Parts: sequence; C-alpha cells; structure tokens
Amino acid sequence: MRIGDAIPCRCPKCRSTDLILSEEFSVCDVLTVRGGRLQDRSAGESPMATGRVYGECSNPACLHRWTFRGSPVQAAFDAAQNL
Ligand SMILES: [Zn+2]
Repeated sequence: MRIGDAIPCRCPKCRSTDLILSEEFSVCDVLTVRGGRLQDRSAGESPMATGRVYGECSNPACLHRWTFRGSPVQAAFDAAQNL
C-alpha cells in the first residue's frame, strides 16, 4: 500500500474517517538450548500479523478506541491487488 491509498474504515461511534490504526504483529525471540544451556539467541524470522487491528478516532470530540472485527488494512490490501 502507498500513501493516498483508500482504507475502508470509519469510527463506529462518530463515523469519522480520521483514525489511527494499529496493526498488531507478533515476533518470537528464539532461544536454542543444548544440554540445558543457552547456545544461541536470535530474533524470529519475520513478524507475523495477528489479524488484530485496533482503531483510535482522531476526532477530538470522540477519541473512541475499539478493535476491528475484520482487518481494514487487509481489505485495502486485497482491494489494491484486484485493481
Ligand atoms: Zn469517533
């Protein structure tokens, strides 16, 4: 996705389309243990999207926070692939 791309979402409380979206990722700290002792430690391969996206309304009169049922980021990505 690029700056200017449409993201299909709005605040469920005030209907504003000015939002902060936080897309959650998980990453593992990988510890290799041999004979009960730490042998190696590395950051996991690549962060994995959990599918959870949190919204925060930017309307100063609202500031509602919620968790999306479906990811609007994924929906925008899918829409961009179908152009
Ligand atoms: Zn709002």
